[in-house]
Order: sequence, then C-alpha cells, then structure tokens
Amino acid sequence: MAYKITSACISCGACIDECPVGAIAEGDGQYVIDEGSCIDCGACCGSCPTGAIEEA
Ligand code: SF4
Ligand code: SF4
Repeated sequence: MAYKITSACISCGACIDECPVGAIAEGDGQYVIDEGSCIDCGACCGSCPTGAIEEA
C-alpha cells in the first residue's frame, strides 16, 4: 500500500514538505509519490488543496 497523486494535482508543491521520508517529487505535469519510499503515514493528504492525494 502507498498513497498516490491523481491528475487533480496542480503542482502547487504544498505536499512535498509534509513527507517525512522524501517520497514526493515533482514529476512531469504533476507531483508523484515513490511507492517504494512511501510509508503510508498519510501526512501529505491534508496538505493538498485539490484533494489529489489518495490511498492507492
Ligand atoms: Fe510521504 Fe506519508 Fe504521504 Fe507517503 S503518505 S507520500 S510517506 S507523507
Ligand atoms: Fe499536487 Fe496536491 Fe501536492 Fe499540490 S499538494 S503538488 S496539488 S498533490
């Protein structure tokens, strides 16, 4: 299990500093979560203004 960022992402960057393990990175057109690094803590979810971060 890992969280994922959907196409609702507007690349605002708000989530990136919330992640304790640095699993979030700026991708091509939207931000992405590295499944292998994500520890499923959910800290990033509340920071997203568009609700783009979902439990995969
Ligand atoms: Fe990082 Fe936690 Fe979000 Fe996974 S759920 S990307 S570990 S903040
Ligand atoms: Fe994208 Fe939401 Fe992260 Fe902003 S907080 S970069 S909209 S996933």
